Amino acid sequence: MKDIKRYTITSALPYANGPVHIGHLAGVYVPADIYARYLRNNGKEVLFIGGSDEHGVPITIKARKEGVTPQDIVDRYHNIIKNSFEELGISFDIYSRTSNPTHHETAADFFKHLYDNGKLIEKVSQQYYDEEAHEFLADRYITGQCPHCNNEHAYGDQCEACGSALNATELINPKSALSGNTPVMKETKHWYLPLNEYDAWLREWILQGHKADWRPTVYGQCKSWIEQGLQPRAVTRDLSWGVKVPLKEAEGKVLYVWFDAPIGYISATKEWAKAHNTDWKLWWQDESSKLVHFIGKDNIVFHCIIFPCMLKAHGDYIVPDNVPANEFLNLEGDKISTSRNWAVWAHEYVEEFPGKQDVLRYTLTSIAPETKDADFTWADFQAKNNNELLAIFGNFVNRTVVLSHKYYGGIIPECGELTDYENEIIEKMSQFPSIIADSIEHYKFREAQAELMNLARLGNKYLTDTEPWKKQKENPEYVKTILHISLQICASLSILCEPFLPFTAKKLQKMLNLENKNWQEGGRHDLLTAGNPLNPAEYLFEKIEDETIAKQVQKLQDTKKQNEVANANAVPSKEDISFDDFQKMDIRVVTVLAAEKVAKTKKLLKLKVNTGVDTREIISGIAEYYQPEELVGKQVLMLINLTPKNIKGVDSHGMVLMAENADGTLSIMQPHKHVKEGSTVK
Ligand SMILES: [Zn+2]
Repeated sequence: MKDIKRYTITSALPYANGPVHIGHLAGVYVPADIYARYLRNNGKEVLFIGGSDEHGVPITIKARKEGVTPQDIVDRYHNIIKNSFEELGISFDIYSRTSNPTHHETAADFFKHLYDNGKLIEKVSQQYYDEEAHEFLADRYITGQCPHCNNEHAYGDQCEACGSALNATELINPKSALSGNTPVMKETKHWYLPLNEYDAWLREWILQGHKADWRPTVYGQCKSWIEQGLQPRAVTRDLSWGVKVPLKEAEGKVLYVWFDAPIGYISATKEWAKAHNTDWKLWWQDESSKLVHFIGKDNIVFHCIIFPCMLKAHGDYIVPDNVPANEFLNLEGDKISTSRNWAVWAHEYVEEFPGKQDVLRYTLTSIAPETKDADFTWADFQAKNNNELLAIFGNFVNRTVVLSHKYYGGIIPECGELTDYENEIIEKMSQFPSIIADSIEHYKFREAQAELMNLARLGNKYLTDTEPWKKQKENPEYVKTILHISLQICASLSILCEPFLPFTAKKLQKMLNLENKNWQEGGRHDLLTAGNPLNPAEYLFEKIEDETIAKQVQKLQDTKKQNEVANANAVPSKEDISFDDFQKMDIRVVTVLAAEKVAKTKKLLKLKVNTGVDTREIISGIAEYYQPEELVGKQVLMLINLTPKNIKGVDSHGMVLMAENADGTLSIMQPHKHVKEGSTVK
């Protein structure tokens, strides 16, 4: 075991083309924050690094779509993301971004170092080029027909219709998304990192060295990558947005985003060190530093294989000690998706649930996808708040502080003689710092938080067993002891909950007049001194009502509906008919003269219309989509020679024509220009 002097903690750089959602929080940022806070509370030297990943093709595509610059896109999302993290108490020491000059310089230098030391190989390849736009085309910028399913709108890297991964050269009839022209093949030179040369080292370092301490899911993915045989991987590409390749012959080329993004951790460290007048190299190049990468499972190959190979190739760097990657979090049984808007967005949550940051943090940790995919539901979120945070933690603290105010005017009572039961409680309490620490140090945050709640349960049980409110009359001395011990448990909770529930810890410590203490002190029963005053009791948690949850569920259902409409296909066409058949229909433009709801029905309106031929009454099933007054005076299309039908006591002569949307909603049909009543439609 090496002697660890400091901890370099990184969390995956969120991609700045959208806000962050609960999947990102549960997978990466909440566990990383718990780890960082825990270490700080232990007096360790910690650097917790985050930042936005601002390069890559999807950002340029989004910018082109919106008619803005890539910088506009990343500025927008960097700020939204950064604010969400701050609001949720993610305690980065620095949150930087890869469009910063320091990063461009650091990434370019890193490349240059590898290049100068012969660690890269050069390869010439053929790539699609748009002769009108004078640009090589990234795979995403080429569309064409999928060779597998014939979808006409497949991309150069993937067909979204059938899910096949593609090479741009496989597309039938390829077109450039920049100009619409057919691209041509042109020679281009790129630099590659020969991953295959690191095979033996990776086998020794990961497959032998980390069999026991890396998560089985992480280890398993690494093993499978290594055993499939690693190939040289291009570190440069033809693109204008990104870190320029620092070579004369590389005009118009930038570093591949997978290469520059992890170097962002190093650049951020440099920025932080400069601001704090200290040496950044200690965190990355000193053997007594422990490097831990927090990521989601989609990033395992980059952080366990590719980035370590880059660091190894460079030669001056340490490699990660652990990469506790999480599996994925689903939402209400469905994959979280940015493009389908199927997510709980961090920035929306903090706005809709003010002061409830810890409830989200708690719920996400309680279902953390550490070993397999997990599912977030709003019903579970409500239950975690109402049945655990409020009923156990909040209730215990509230009863203790309220009784202390009631009996002693808010002055901490003396501890009298201890019975065996109190000694047992004190003994149990003293074990919690080590129990919780052991779980955290093994990256089992879910288990660690469950243990924290066991301490709250212990307090709750102690109060329920001893019932101080019943003993105050006949045995007030013992009640003082009970509340003294209960207050000490509250103090212990306030220290041990800090990594998980930082906002609650602060509130509770304020109530107790306690400063945050070192982690190990969290097990002591003399944290509070008799005779010292308490502050007034405050609620740590409040009940979350059914209607609050119903609103969130409705929001998701609305999203689902919108997605269905967006993805719905038109109904298949009907059998052919003759022109004579069509001629039988007498469709006219009519004007609505009056409209009213048909009593005791939900869907029906009675309309009086001028057909040009006559004035008549008809019944129409559009009451759910139009108010009567909206229709009066409007011209609509109507089939006037439909056999009359008696509906709800009214003889309905004809039918108003409607377009039915994919979600079943109806829309009236109007002529594009005003025409005379009775005009025929043909
Ligand atoms: Zn396809």
